[in-house]
Amino acid sequence: MRARLYRYERADVEKATLILEDTSPEFVNTIRRALYTLVPTLAIEDVIIYENDTPMYDEMLAHRLGLIPLKVEDIEQFDPPDLCECGGRGCERCQVRATLEVEGPGTVYAGDLEFDHPEVEPVFPDMPIVEMGEGQRLRLEAIAVLGFGYEHAKWKPVTAVGYKGMPEIVVDEEKLKEKGIDYECPQGILRIENGEVVEIDEERLPECRMYKEYEKATDGAVRLELRDDAFVFNVETDGSLPLKKTFELAFEALEHKVSSLKEALKEELEGEE
Ligand SMILES: [Zn+2]
Repeated sequence: MRARLYRYERADVEKATLILEDTSPEFVNTIRRALYTLVPTLAIEDVIIYENDTPMYDEMLAHRLGLIPLKVEDIEQFDPPDLCECGGRGCERCQVRATLEVEGPGTVYAGDLEFDHPEVEPVFPDMPIVEMGEGQRLRLEAIAVLGFGYEHAKWKPVTAVGYKGMPEIVVDEEKLKEKGIDYECPQGILRIENGEVVEIDEERLPECRMYKEYEKATDGAVRLELRDDAFVFNVETDGSLPLKKTFELAFEALEHKVSSLKEALKEELEGEE
């Protein structure tokens, strides 16, 4: 299996397009699912509301707080509460606390949460939480814990992961010549002059969206096929973890699953010998 980075952008979040070759749809889907479900992030899980005069119900407010992506460089300093040595009672390895105390009028933003850990902060401090009227008060305490995407979507480090087969242009040269076709694709990837392909921009093929266009324009002489052994893989983070770390943790989780299965099977089958 081979991989190369095709495109990369970084702002608050990271976006990447990778080309994965010599693999199968099943394996690429395993990677997609591991990124969604097996990489831990921090998210607010418990909220203790002392005062809430805002128009928003306590439950709704807690739900919105839970969905705030939280950024932390070193996620490995935390343990999930059920695996922590404190036994899940709550300690600095499994909990980060935040407080919020605001008086209206005005908008409460994610950045108004004050975390008791120097490395933890909201990815988007200007994310609005609730509007407050004159004299309204909001006072609460929130507890963020480590969790996984398979438990709740709020713990997913990625917002969009998808893939498609790598586009491949298949040309029936004889048919194309016979018809003497002239065609230039709107994306500028394929150019045909007088029944001959004069240009295919191989480098930009992963971006090709002209699925049915080629067939229509050339009366079936040129088709765009999607390979099932090479893939264009798109991934976008929510900013909570670096993309590189997200991949590392996803692969570690897969490795761990395979090695524990290997051990378990070895024991079972040795008993049969
Ligand atoms: Zn703990």
